[in-house]
Amino acid sequence: MITTELSNVGEIIQNQREFFQTGKTKDVTFRIEQLKTLKQAIIEHEQAIVEALQADLHKPEVETYLTEISVIKEIDYAIKHLQNWSKPKKAAVSWDFFSYSAKIYPEPLGVVLIIGPWNYPFQLIISPLIGAIAAGNCAILKPSEIASHTSDIVAKIIAKYFDPAYIAVVEGGVEASQKLLAEKFDHIFFTGGTAVGKIIMAAAAKHLTPVTLELGGKSPCIVDTDIKLEHTVRRITWGKFINAGQTCIAPDYLLVNKKIKKDLIDGLAKSLKEFYGDNPVNSPDYARIISEKHFDRLVNFLKDGEVIIGGENQPSEHYIAPTVIDNVSLEDPVMQEEIFGPILPIIEYTDIAEAIALINSRPKPLALYLFSQDKNLQKRVLQETSSGGVCINDTVMQVGVPSLPFGGVGDSGIGNYHGKASFDTFSHKKSVLKNSFWLDLKWRYAPYQGKLPLIKKLLG
Ligand code: NAD
Repeated sequence: MITTELSNVGEIIQNQREFFQTGKTKDVTFRIEQLKTLKQAIIEHEQAIVEALQADLHKPEVETYLTEISVIKEIDYAIKHLQNWSKPKKAAVSWDFFSYSAKIYPEPLGVVLIIGPWNYPFQLIISPLIGAIAAGNCAILKPSEIASHTSDIVAKIIAKYFDPAYIAVVEGGVEASQKLLAEKFDHIFFTGGTAVGKIIMAAAAKHLTPVTLELGGKSPCIVDTDIKLEHTVRRITWGKFINAGQTCIAPDYLLVNKKIKKDLIDGLAKSLKEFYGDNPVNSPDYARIISEKHFDRLVNFLKDGEVIIGGENQPSEHYIAPTVIDNVSLEDPVMQEEIFGPILPIIEYTDIAEAIALINSRPKPLALYLFSQDKNLQKRVLQETSSGGVCINDTVMQVGVPSLPFGGVGDSGIGNYHGKASFDTFSHKKSVLKNSFWLDLKWRYAPYQGKLPLIKKLLG
């Protein structure tokens, strides 16, 4: 472990506070330089990142480029827009404020803490960091200890390119998190499960620290009859089984129109074969479950309903085949908990109202997917459900559009990021009102006698 010992946490924060006070991070040119450095650091360590992800999750190289190293695109986007984002923005004033001007100044928050999960362990720690740097903050990163190889490479890269008084990594598990959470930060950005999210928020509340919580949940995927089947099954297969289903916005379960269910299942079987061959355990393109604990948790789900595709598993390898299950009950654990693995339950509906009612009876999901070309149905689902985001006729791709804020609602999270939303998350919007000296009307000053009619007129 390269990083700072846990006993030094207080000292690192103090050093970062002092560094922040120098005002260096307020300079936009400095921030752009740091973003360029971060990009260069990632490019120089691409191979090591690929190897770390291979060791942690058996992640195929293509997936590592697509979903982890691709974070450099976000750096480019921030560099391109930062001058504009950081400029004070004029705000309108009403006619009775005619001698005033108003502006909103984005300013950095100070020292922020970023806590990451293990499933996209590189991207999900670096992506918020881009926002923190762009907005002019100092940052402490706490990667997930469960993806230990990636945690190490993140620590190595950051220590090599950045002064710990500006950006530091603290490695470790719950103990490290708790040690950090006992300190006061200016913002905490957490990605992980809903249960831990509550712990983070409770700890932050003690210091009145604002939080962004990027959590999980069960993201439904509705499949209507008005679709191009071949495209639908491929897009669902990809979004569900990439990273062996360990994706916060993977379709958790399918809600399928009864009329198309058989075709859809046949189509899924076909596309799984096309993606991973007859025996996915031999496929170089299929990831593994992160740990024994999660493997055991997932294997338990296989007891629910009836396995119609897959179901094979190998404990020694943490391998679970891409699996589709039918005839599940809504009370089964697989339909009660977030699956977060390569198991896809199918629930059928006859009327879309049933699917919508089921979604609305549960905590608000992070993502909702709808496959349908029917514009009225699209409108209805959008209007009658609430979720962090929606993607129509595709899965997971919404995460790659920087102009779309990414985050949850209700149990799936608080706040959002990506693109400008990341800059905003790590900035305070300081409202500044300026008056001039050329006039000083006395209507608001005491003595008030005789002024009420004018005040009433102004209010009207
Ligand atoms: P987790 O909540 O177990 O852990 C996340 C982080 O919190 C880790 O760094 C861990 O060390 C720390 N942590 C764990 N227990 C803690 C405690 N008691 N006190 C303080 N810190 C603690 O999550 P995970 O298992 O790493 O990730 C899976 C979850 O994350 C899933 O629910 C998934 O949906 C969610 N997720 C959400 C997003 C998103 O963008 N919304 C992305 C990825 C994962």
